[in-house]
Amino acid sequence: MAKVELKGISKIYEGGVKAVDNANIVVEDKEFVVFVGPSGCGKSTTLRMVAGLEDISEGELYIDGELMNDVPPKDRNIAMVFQNYALYPHMTVYDNMAFGLRIKKVPKDEIDKRVHEAAVKLDIEKFLDRKPKALSGGQRQRVAVGRAIVRKPKVFLFDEPLSNLDAKLRVQMRAELSKLHHDLDATMIYVTHDQVEAMTMASKIVVIKDGKVQQIGAPLFLYNHPVNKFVAGFIGSPPMNFLTVKVEKDGNGIALSEGTFKIKPDAAHEPYLKAYEGKEIYFGIRPEDLRYAEKAEKGTMPVQITVVEPLGADIHLWLTAGNQPLVARMESHYDFKVGGTVNLSPEMAKARYFDKDTELSILAELDRKAE
Ligand code: ADP
Repeated sequence: MAKVELKGISKIYEGGVKAVDNANIVVEDKEFVVFVGPSGCGKSTTLRMVAGLEDISEGELYIDGELMNDVPPKDRNIAMVFQNYALYPHMTVYDNMAFGLRIKKVPKDEIDKRVHEAAVKLDIEKFLDRKPKALSGGQRQRVAVGRAIVRKPKVFLFDEPLSNLDAKLRVQMRAELSKLHHDLDATMIYVTHDQVEAMTMASKIVVIKDGKVQQIGAPLFLYNHPVNKFVAGFIGSPPMNFLTVKVEKDGNGIALSEGTFKIKPDAAHEPYLKAYEGKEIYFGIRPEDLRYAEKAEKGTMPVQITVVEPLGADIHLWLTAGNQPLVARMESHYDFKVGGTVNLSPEMAKARYFDKDTELSILAELDRKAE
């Protein structure tokens, strides 16, 4: 069992920088939780407080119900994997992996068994006699992961472990870490600025901005029900489009007007939008929810094509509606020309709406019911 609980945790650095502001996060046993957010948002600081590498300024940290605030890192039963691998250059791979166990006076046979088991799991058996400098970046990262595994910790902490690898290796390691999590059945906390890593690996994502937790939830829940414009724009690539539209009275109901188009919201969303009649809001729509329409008709949006990006399986179209930019993802069989006009039919049931001042989701109440 390894449950990690952050209760009202803050970090105030010398000079008054509040790097983490009142974080409340529960990491359940065997969960793979990813902290994600832009550079400088406080992800690493939060992780380092869990590891015991930074003092906690305010709040309480529990591992399996035990208060950890004043427990030294070595007694927290956690293992951390860093971006720069942090291997000892003068030791062999074997010794790098065995070092922590020798210090803990684990019997030699047991050390040997654990190192070999981990080496097999990570496919680094043939490198055990090598020094780190004779390994590629990807192999070094495996050794760093191996060193964590042999300790059989309660919790694994990863701080941007794939950032130094090239794109192809990152994709491969992503899958391997997911498999490792599955095989080890361990609790893992993983920090990254890369929302793709978060989406693909996490059982639960914690989105952080400016030291504050924005939203916590399963990847697809966050994707479909973001609480604010920041989360909506951060999760997903290309990002969600945000068009400023005016909520207008339309017959008995309402419509969303941009000047170049007027569309009806989904019936389920209409009651929440009614309060905004006469006001401007953000209409959020994901690139894959903008469909190609054969001709202009009620409910379609005429847009101008500025860039066509064929990606093989699909096409990204960079567009403007009026003077507002947006991007659409289409199937590859269409033939689009830069400078041309195309009509889009937005999947209104998938649309999101955000208050222009607070940037909070206007559909929050509806989302709570979906949770
Ligand atoms: P992230 O991991 O999300 O990139 P960090 O947790 O490293 O962000 O940093 C969060 C904020 O705290 C940043 O504004 C950073 O400049 C600041 N910070 C980090 N370490 C220190 C430190 N030792 N002293 C003062 N400020 C720091």
